[in-house]
Amino acid sequence: MTSISSMPYAVRKNDSNWIKDTAEDIKKLRLKHGDTHPYYELIKDSFYCYGCYKKWIKENHTEPFDYALPKLTHYIYENGNKTHFKLRRKSQEKNHDHLKGCYFNDPSDYYKELSDSFDHIEIAEKQTARLIILNRMNQILKTEIRSSTKGLGKTIKPKASHLQTFGALQDIYNRYGESWRELPVITEDNETKKIENLLLSPDEAIDSSKQYPNKIAIVYGTIQRVEARNNGGYINIVFKQGSNKSDRPFRLSVSPYHIYNETDLQCLENRKIGCYGRLKHNQGFSQIELFSLHHQIVFLDLQKSEPCPFRTPSINIDRIQKLLTRTMEFHHSKLHSYHPGMFTFHRQAQSDFKKIKQTVQETQQKQQLLFQEKEMKTQEKNSMSVLHNTLLIDTANIKKQLRITKSKIKETEKQFSNKFRKWTRFIYA
Ligand SMILES: [Zn+2]
Repeated sequence: MTSISSMPYAVRKNDSNWIKDTAEDIKKLRLKHGDTHPYYELIKDSFYCYGCYKKWIKENHTEPFDYALPKLTHYIYENGNKTHFKLRRKSQEKNHDHLKGCYFNDPSDYYKELSDSFDHIEIAEKQTARLIILNRMNQILKTEIRSSTKGLGKTIKPKASHLQTFGALQDIYNRYGESWRELPVITEDNETKKIENLLLSPDEAIDSSKQYPNKIAIVYGTIQRVEARNNGGYINIVFKQGSNKSDRPFRLSVSPYHIYNETDLQCLENRKIGCYGRLKHNQGFSQIELFSLHHQIVFLDLQKSEPCPFRTPSINIDRIQKLLTRTMEFHHSKLHSYHPGMFTFHRQAQSDFKKIKQTVQETQQKQQLLFQEKEMKTQEKNSMSVLHNTLLIDTANIKKQLRITKSKIKETEKQFSNKFRKWTRFIYA
């Protein structure tokens, strides 16, 4: 069970409203006024798990009673440098365990949300997530190739335009703070590791890069400067040096094949960051290749609701000429410079539109005429039908008249025959 034991914030009921307290704010209060200050005395037994609070609201669509949530205790340690909240295990309270689905108890639901929002994290086995950050450029190219050759019928995740937004690692840090150390992830080397086992200070990273080249790590520290592009076309971003003065400071290196310019990277200067990547040691320098701010960089000193400091990179077309040529070669396409003749299809289409419009009008007129004709024929048919009925009635009347006449003739014939017989008897008598 992946349970995060330390929490960077808690929720507390103030009058009738729930408010969020950060462990940092409570630490400042305690260090300034002491634990016997009446205000701290008042609040110290009313911290509850924020993850459980959010889970309760999601499920019940209403705010919880405080007894429904597990109680937390605030701790300060390492001589006042560090702080967190922890579950009050020894408490007399009944509910001292996290609610099911609280993200401090089980990150699965949260990892699922992340994998839905970001293309560089996938949910893996229960309660872990697989990072697919490295070799991004190759992956992007491969996806393009796949989608252009046999992509039909295959769902390909849309690639978000995310160059100036935070990535999944920053999202994790924003949610868990320093407690992100306890979360497990699966790296591109297929190793399941807690984030704390990936974290290295610049000094540790220098040592590791020599011993374990290609090791995946998150190097964290403060960026001292972004250097101007050197003669080889590389831009180096240098970490502040630690106690190790014998080696050159650890750096992030941006290859000429990546789109960033110095100005796009200045947002990192004097910031406490972490950078995810593979450690390299080359010609006396220890470094990580930086290819994507969005995917690799985590700001560890982000202020509350600070907007994303990444800017849209400005692209010098000459610098991506090689990539363009490679991509075009792959697609067997040729380079065309622009000339207006390429767009004759547009003018052609416009004249076609006129013709089509005319044809439509003519067809509509024709249809109108046909409709009128149909109306007339219908009227004609109706009047014919009336005449037909009249004739039928006349015929019936005539037939009736005929029957009467015939029966009258028969009667007359009968009378005549009788008279004739009388006369015959009279003559021959
Ligand atoms: Zn909880």
